[in-house]
Amino acid sequence: MDTENQSSEKNVTNSGYDVIIIGAGPAGMFAAYELAAIHSLKILIVDMGRDIEKRLCQMKTHTYCMHCIPCDIMCGVGGCGTFSDGTLNLRPDVGGDLAALTGDHIKAWELVEKVDKIFLEFGAPRGVLLAEGPDIEELKRRAASVGARFLEIKQRHIGSDNAPTVIGRFKQDLINKGVNFMLETEVKDLLIEEGISKGVVLSDGRLIPAHYVLLSPGRRGCDWVSEVIEKHRIEARYDGIDIGVRVEVPAIIMDPVTKINRDPKFHIQTRRYDDFVRTFCTNKHGFVVKEEYDDFIATNGHSLTNLESENTNFAFLVRVELTEPIENTTKYARSIAKLATTIGGGKPVLQRMGDLRRGRRSTKERLVKNLVVNTLKDVTPGDISMALPHRIVMDIIEGLETLNEIIPGVTSDSTLLYAPEVKFYAMHLNVDRQMETSIKNLFAAGDGAGLSRDIVNAAATGIMAAEGIIKKEKTKKESKGEI
Ligand SMILES: Cc1cc2nc3c(=O)[nH]c(=O)nc-3n(C[C@H](O)[C@H](O)[C@H](O)COP(=O)(O)OP(=O)(O)OC[C@H]3O[C@@H](n4cnc5c(N)ncnc54)[C@H](O)[C@@H]3O)c2cc1C
Repeated sequence: MDTENQSSEKNVTNSGYDVIIIGAGPAGMFAAYELAAIHSLKILIVDMGRDIEKRLCQMKTHTYCMHCIPCDIMCGVGGCGTFSDGTLNLRPDVGGDLAALTGDHIKAWELVEKVDKIFLEFGAPRGVLLAEGPDIEELKRRAASVGARFLEIKQRHIGSDNAPTVIGRFKQDLINKGVNFMLETEVKDLLIEEGISKGVVLSDGRLIPAHYVLLSPGRRGCDWVSEVIEKHRIEARYDGIDIGVRVEVPAIIMDPVTKINRDPKFHIQTRRYDDFVRTFCTNKHGFVVKEEYDDFIATNGHSLTNLESENTNFAFLVRVELTEPIENTTKYARSIAKLATTIGGGKPVLQRMGDLRRGRRSTKERLVKNLVVNTLKDVTPGDISMALPHRIVMDIIEGLETLNEIIPGVTSDSTLLYAPEVKFYAMHLNVDRQMETSIKNLFAAGDGAGLSRDIVNAAATGIMAAEGIIKKEKTKKESKGEI
């Protein structure tokens, strides 16, 4: 069933749309915002998920699944951003590499500022956690003294509870400007003829023509993007993936750092394997959550504005890059996640740091006596070294010990490690500076195209794609003598 916004349906002619945007996540919505400033453009956003108020999220059970129904954390208006922690990392090199895409550092920072301004326009809280001052200096010094790097980031925290309201205002603004939404409708294929994009094919077989298509289907669309890349021979490459654990410690251990920076990013290069390890997605007084995929489970974390736990959790991830003959990092990460799911009997494996160090599994009895109480209950006490490759386990132990020198207490025996935590990234579509792919008039943005990994970067790539479309449209009209 599609729920096209009838209010601006009068704009639509039989010739279809000027722009079809696949995905109503931050990339798609910010692209639409930019495009809607050109009043003559007919814009359609197609999303397989539901409208905000209809999106059900099992936040109370702390379970995220990767399907749209019944729990649609990944799909629908606002994309993954709607029920995320809503932490905006106001930096172009966290959650992506905007400068590499723009080829210009100043432009990359301008995009970040623009995204922030638009979020403020729709009611994001004004207070920003600052990224400078003596505390930050001290943290940077402590990290540098043990060979690690602390990234200072200006952050704005919308919060999981507030994000749906902010996204709701954003959507209403787009509707007021004439943008059409077609929800609960899946795009099955791209309409490409002789290397030129012509529109999209819906799962019910309908064809919708468009002059330009923006491919921005987020993490939910990763597999589908791989399929269309292969089918239509769109130029792309595999990126690295991040595999590791979700770490949970008493909030008091992390407080000295999270008071300075809510989502601190530490980057460590391990001595043993020279691998890149990092902290990611810290949830102060938060909860560990389970992610359910089709054939395996994984972990994640979130924090709520109105409900706090006594713990803080963060992802601790090892970057894995592969070279020939196996470059498919997604396939590799999936097989690891499946192994972890098998050893956990279909649940995440939970192990105390002390047990990992001593080479023994954690048990229910040890967990009952543990000082840190696990916020995710649906787990199997076990041994993560049976679930993850040796190299990754070694990187995690070494990296956490380095982190312990910066944040004392992080590797105490009672620290909890949940496995697996996996960050899948889509195949990286090759795009030019205007975000146009190797297929003419097919543009790409956001996580699903491998061009970003967080809200701000996804939104910024959406704006870049919109600017690219506007520029192309202008050139077309100029050449026809229309302007
Ligand atoms: C639990 C969780 C917490 C997070 N917390 C944060 C955070 O605090 N801060 C942060 O910066 N980032 C966070 N992230 C990451 C962030 O949400 C994403 O990086 C961002 O939303 C990516 O934006 P996007 O527009 O590329 O894709 P998405 O937000 O994933 O949106 C893509 C949309 O495309 C739709 N779609 C997919 N395929 C199709 C198809 N074939 N047809 C039609 N529609 C389709 C989907 O339904 C979805 O709505 C979090 C992610 C998750 C899962």
